[in-house]
Amino acid sequence: MHPSDIIQGSVYATILRANGHAVHPQGYIRQIWDGRVRYLPFDLLPDEKIVGLYHYRRQLLANPNLARFSVHPALCRGCGHREQGRCEGR
Ligand code: SF4
Repeated sequence: MHPSDIIQGSVYATILRANGHAVHPQGYIRQIWDGRVRYLPFDLLPDEKIVGLYHYRRQLLANPNLARFSVHPALCRGCGHREQGRCEGR
């Protein structure tokens, strides 16, 4: 499970809560492994965290130089930001 999966699921939950829906605090990631489907549980991030990430993303888009490089060079291979010349990568 990747952090981006947790963030994506949590964003959906935040949107649903903002529109008046009740949302369980636990989400699930659907994963297919060896031909079998599994649902991996995870704790949804609180709305305040999602809003903070939203503002952080806007800040990075406005000031790309503030962004940290990925922790591993392999993550940079095939990254759209590098292909578009927005980031040198590792
Ligand atoms: S190329 Fe830049 S944006 Fe893409 S993964 Fe590497 S450090 Fe991150």
